[in-house]
Amino acid sequence: MVRSSVGKNAADPPARIAVLGRGPVPPGDPVLRGDDLGVLHGDGLFETMHLRGGQPWLRDEHLARLATAAAAVELPLPPTSALIDLLDQVRTGWPAAVEGALRLVCTRGPEAGGPPTIYATLAPVPAASRAARRDGITVATLPLGLPAAARSGLTWLPVGIKSTSYAVSSAARRWARRAGVDDVLWISSDGYALEGPTANVVWLTDDTLCTVPAASTGILAGTTAAWLLAHASELGLGAAERMVSAAELHAADGVWFTSSLRGAAEVHTLDGVRRARCPRTPALQALLNFPV
Ligand code: PLP
Repeated sequence: MVRSSVGKNAADPPARIAVLGRGPVPPGDPVLRGDDLGVLHGDGLFETMHLRGGQPWLRDEHLARLATAAAAVELPLPPTSALIDLLDQVRTGWPAAVEGALRLVCTRGPEAGGPPTIYATLAPVPAASRAARRDGITVATLPLGLPAAARSGLTWLPVGIKSTSYAVSSAARRWARRAGVDDVLWISSDGYALEGPTANVVWLTDDTLCTVPAASTGILAGTTAAWLLAHASELGLGAAERMVSAAELHAADGVWFTSSLRGAAEVHTLDGVRRARCPRTPALQALLNFPV
């Protein structure tokens, strides 16, 4: 049984780090050089996976997304087997009952040249993620200042990659804190909902589970949203990728923010408007096999 209580548990294991080529290191030990381009420019990629029962959920999907992104930004990665070994090193011995946040980080490496810096971190899933899954979240829309198709139309710009360059996401999350909401949903200048800083939006309308198309908008293609849509038929639902306005979301039968650690967190309040709780939420969470 996976523990799902909120708050840090005194029995939580300490965070762990393993570095490619070095193996597990004490969490306080230096891992990155000061001149690593990951630090200087946010030039790197990462993936965050949910560890349940000691195993990384959707590991291969995360590694595939990382490989696509690495090709897009010309970041040479070691063979996938070496990345899997690294994930195994950091997770070995982790208590099966503790949900883990397993992160794989690949930075560009030293400014003067050299191999990428590659390491994995593992820590208990934050209490806030488990609370969001259990209680739902409040979300406010936030203008991104760009038309929905602006980024995907730029051939020079790698989009839909999970970059360590998180300045815009961090700014949005600071705004959310100041605004007193749990999270934000970016809206394009032409009025379409895009994604949250660390989540996709999924909604239910006319028995169809929907999400925003990544290819035409340049948002991150989420592994969690993809899993839900691929398995929607198990709940008797259809699945579709669509553009959606905030007004259409207000009218939807259910709205969720989906991400690897939160799973499907129901948006119970959007722009200050309380929504009726969707009776499908437990079934979505069961589909993701997340502890509730
Ligand atoms: N969109 C963005 C911008 C994200 O950073 C994330 C995850 O961190 C997601 C969506 C959700 O992706 P996944 O379900 O693969 O965790």
